[in-house]
Parts: sequence; structure tokens; C-alpha cells
Amino acid sequence: MQIPIVAPNEAAKLAAEYKERGFNTLKLKVGKNLSSDIEVLKAIRLVHPDCLFILDANEGYTANEAIEVLEKLNEMGVKPILFEQPVHRDNWEGLRHVSQVAKGEYGVSVAADESCRSLEDAKRIIEGNLAHVINIKLAKLGVLGALDVIEVARAAGTELMIGGMVETRLAMGFAGHLAAGLGCFKYIDLDTPLLLSEDPVLGGYEVTGAVYNFTDSSGQGGFLHWDGIC
Ligand SMILES: [Mg+2]
Repeated sequence: MQIPIVAPNEAAKLAAEYKERGFNTLKLKVGKNLSSDIEVLKAIRLVHPDCLFILDANEGYTANEAIEVLEKLNEMGVKPILFEQPVHRDNWEGLRHVSQVAKGEYGVSVAADESCRSLEDAKRIIEGNLAHVINIKLAKLGVLGALDVIEVARAAGTELMIGGMVETRLAMGFAGHLAAGLGCFKYIDLDTPLLLSEDPVLGGYEVTGAVYNFTDSSGQGGFLHWDGIC
């Protein structure tokens, strides 16, 4: 589950709730302000001490700031399992540098999300060793585009993540089916329907904490709740 950019007490409240619901990995949105990002992380650890972290900077840091965050976390004894999109999407050299230091000094993998919006981007990332993981989103790449990126990444041994935009259970269910069918994703980040106050899609996959169960019903399995649609 993800924790948006909020004050430390708010983040701790969410983390405690997610812990209760069985989430042991939290994705922390960072990148706005380095020192408040660290404060948020400290607050979360107090309520969820064994929590694993994925950091997602959404392009928000400079390369130096991204490395500084890793340094600070290292001092605190925290090793994120992944550091997503630390720098601006077009900062290829920065991405390469952060990836090199993150892995070499701290053993942390870096994922390209916004930097990988096409097959061309994927090839550039793979050939230039710019990141260790590529985040596949169907809304970003399209289904066929995603399959092309997946193919080149798998051939090169680049790890894969599957994520999404703010999506309903319809799109997320489709992405989940794809992930379950292909079985090649190391990181699964398909939580956005859990953040929606209302979802017009009923049925489909079943959710128990962080585990999704897919039924063998035809198609995606879900259907639209027509009453709620104007
Ligand atoms: Mg991201």
C-alpha cells in the first residue's frame, strides 16, 4: 500500500492501519522535501517497525538528493527494497548515477517508471544500464506496448514491476490477470482501487490484505455497477 506525501503523524496513522490490514511492504511517496521525507519514514517505523519500504520519488529529487536520502536511511539502518524514479524522467545521466551508487554502496535497486514510456526508452535503459527494474503500467504503455517492453526486459534479465495509475478494479483486475498469467513481475504494485472512495466496478478479483485472488470467471470477472454511473 502507498503512503502519499503527508505529515508524519498522518503517515503513521495510515501505516498503522495498513499494518492491521496485513500490508508488510509500504510504498512511500517522497521527493518533495528531503528532511520531511526522513521524518515521515521515522514516524512510520515507530508504528510498523518491520515494514519494508519502496520509495517512489516521482522524479522529485536531484541525483545528489537521491543519494543523500539513501545515505541517511543507511545511517538509520533502513534499506529500501526499491527506489523508484529518483530523478526527472529526462535526467538519464542522473538516473544512471543514482542507480550505480544505490546498488554499489547500499545494495538498493532503482526502478525506472516515468523514464520508461516507450519501447525506445526501455531499450535505452537496458542498454545503458540506467536502472535495475522497469515499472510496467498498462495505462502508460498500452497492452501491446507493455508486452514489447516485457519481452526486451526479460531477454536482458532486467527485473520488472507492474504498477498502475489511479485506476478502478476494472483496469487493475486486467493488470492483475496479466501479472498472474506472465508470472515475471518481481514487484506488484496494484493498490489504487483500495484508495478509491467509490469504485464503479463490482466483482472480479478478491482482495485479502495484500493478496489478490483471481477467479476463473470469464473475462476480467468484474462488472459495472450501473446504478452508480450517471
Ligand atoms: Mg512511480
